[in-house]
Amino acid sequence: MELEDINTVAVLGAGNMGHGIAEVVAMAGYDVNMRDINEEFVQNGYDQIEWSLDKLAENDQLSEDEAEAALERVTPLVDMADACGDADVVIEAVPEKMEIKEEVYTELESVAPDRAIFATNTSSLSITDLSEFTERPEQFCGMHFFNPPVRMQLVEVISGAQSNDETLDVIEELADDIGKSPVRVHKDSPGFIVNRVLVPLMNEACWLVESDEATIAEVDSTTKYDMGLPMGSFELGDQVGNDISYHVLEYMHDVLGEPYEPCPLLERKVENEELGKKTGKGFYDYEDGDGADIPTDEQSDLVESRLTASMANEVAKLIGNDVAPPESIDEATKLGAGFPDGPVKIVDKFGIENALETLEDAYEQTGHERYEPADYLEERASEGGFYDAAEDDDGVEFDAIRVEYPGDMVGHIVLDRPHRMNTISDDLLEELATAVDLLEDDEEVRSILITGEGEKAFSAGADVQSMAAGGADPLEGQELSRLGQQTFGKLEACDLPIVAGIDGFCLGGGMELSMCADLRVASERSEFGQPELDLGLLPGWGGTQRLKHIVGEGRAKEIILTAERFDAETMADYGFVNDVVANNELEDEALDLATDLAGGPPVAQKFTKRAMLTGRHDTEAGLEYEASAFGHLMATDDLMEGITAFMGDGEPEFEGK
Ligand code: NAD
Repeated sequence: MELEDINTVAVLGAGNMGHGIAEVVAMAGYDVNMRDINEEFVQNGYDQIEWSLDKLAENDQLSEDEAEAALERVTPLVDMADACGDADVVIEAVPEKMEIKEEVYTELESVAPDRAIFATNTSSLSITDLSEFTERPEQFCGMHFFNPPVRMQLVEVISGAQSNDETLDVIEELADDIGKSPVRVHKDSPGFIVNRVLVPLMNEACWLVESDEATIAEVDSTTKYDMGLPMGSFELGDQVGNDISYHVLEYMHDVLGEPYEPCPLLERKVENEELGKKTGKGFYDYEDGDGADIPTDEQSDLVESRLTASMANEVAKLIGNDVAPPESIDEATKLGAGFPDGPVKIVDKFGIENALETLEDAYEQTGHERYEPADYLEERASEGGFYDAAEDDDGVEFDAIRVEYPGDMVGHIVLDRPHRMNTISDDLLEELATAVDLLEDDEEVRSILITGEGEKAFSAGADVQSMAAGGADPLEGQELSRLGQQTFGKLEACDLPIVAGIDGFCLGGGMELSMCADLRVASERSEFGQPELDLGLLPGWGGTQRLKHIVGEGRAKEIILTAERFDAETMADYGFVNDVVANNELEDEALDLATDLAGGPPVAQKFTKRAMLTGRHDTEAGLEYEASAFGHLMATDDLMEGITAFMGDGEPEFEGK
């Protein structure tokens, strides 16, 4: 089956996950049959979809018409044959009980057409075992959405022992087509990727407390404020539900053995029905206490090394057993658990040898199998990391940029394509991402300065020619947008303070790049603008989201919708430029400012940046919207018109096509 052959998707179960999955699939234009066991349940799910679509429309994430059309595409049904008799894909989201799923698949097999692919949303059951309830195990795979499907980007696409490539490919394409980011899990392994990282981490947090090596406050203070994870371990546990973590762990224990023995502390929580937020009490008290009130200053090195070592062992097992490569593990965990850096990257930064040593020591002291280092961890430790060791500082070759060290703890990135007004090419994006990593890892660098080579431009935008060469493929357009979003997102999320020194044109993608700096200094002659709409495009590298946080939405709309040029003084009035200086003083002034910031308190700076960024809740949804819109625009006639006029210096005539 090809993606084009998919018209009707049946979703079994209208509960928590089922109704959310039905909603996102319908929003993407598919007909959806949503089935539950009685009228009341299925209607309940339908009402929730209606409520959620209304909310999206209220927040301008959908138009009223789109919301209405999406709802119309959902048919609530109780009869299995009516729901699945003509389905191309069936996504199953019924309760997590083998017996129930067996019954459902047996009935489904008797009514579904031969062509239909079955995908299960199970979190913890074996995909292979489930597939064996059907007569089409090769046309069966896991399609694991995260809660709530409307907001969570990640879908793990999991291969069962017999799933064929065609099935996995088309389900991955479907996930992509409904606007999600699929990550392939090559083997049916308990917890897949995200839960396999999170749940043993939770268990290790419990063991630390159970064995009196740390307090709950120390564990959470360390995870949240030292390791930089989005929540404390116990805070997260309470949010997910301690019963859920416990059940996933029990399943891992059954299949994978002793390393996954649930910690008695977690067991007691479940026995006492202290399941977390949903019962009002878990590790924290949400009814009579203050909830997860985590101290900022109780960090412990022991906690950090144990938890990092635990992650190191899990990711080693995943990579070593070919379940998923490092890049997929990092991407999935970032998308599914909101980690700012992926776990593999975290371990590499911490030092894989340190992680191995921590495990060896703990294994010697306790004899518990969870500390027994995985073979693959030992193998990679001798190589210095999971990722192939990047070349050392001197060895990194840059072409589109230069990295310099002008003294006093400043790392200076120079956009170095003066012949093309420092326009941003794919290579430049890639090198910029590498440079940010390099500088962030360098202990002697405390701030970053970014400038453009030459006097003409900081950066005149995206390299329009190389973009036009991408052709009119919406998917390529989305990818291009995402690539830029990711690199710029990384720059914005960098823990070091960043100064952009702007001299000359700062346009389009160049201006979007400068939005990721913390402070902007510009020379008097500089000119700013977002000309994308003149080309029939929109700012696709974060501009629709980031600009408004700096200048306010009114000014952001003015800049983007008029596509005008703005001088440095005006941009200073708007609050975009922090300081305007004489043309010949730009370099010195910008460097002075970067040097000043490099002398500031790094940890306070880091926390300030993270806190401010975390506060901007809905940017992800906005970026996602931006990328699909950008992809859509790539296929329009108006884009060609805009680019042709731009190249020939003429006035474009847009037709809205
Ligand atoms: P839920 O209990 O909210 O919903 C399950 C629904 O399935 C209920 O409405 C139930 O009436 C219905 N159902 C029962 N038997 C049925 C049948 N024979 N045919 C059709 N519907 C039937 O559960 P949920 O949280 O939505 O979980 C569903 C699946 O998704 C489980 O496999 C779970 O592991 C997985 N999952 C859950 C989450 C989560 O955070 N809740 C996340 C990812 C995956």
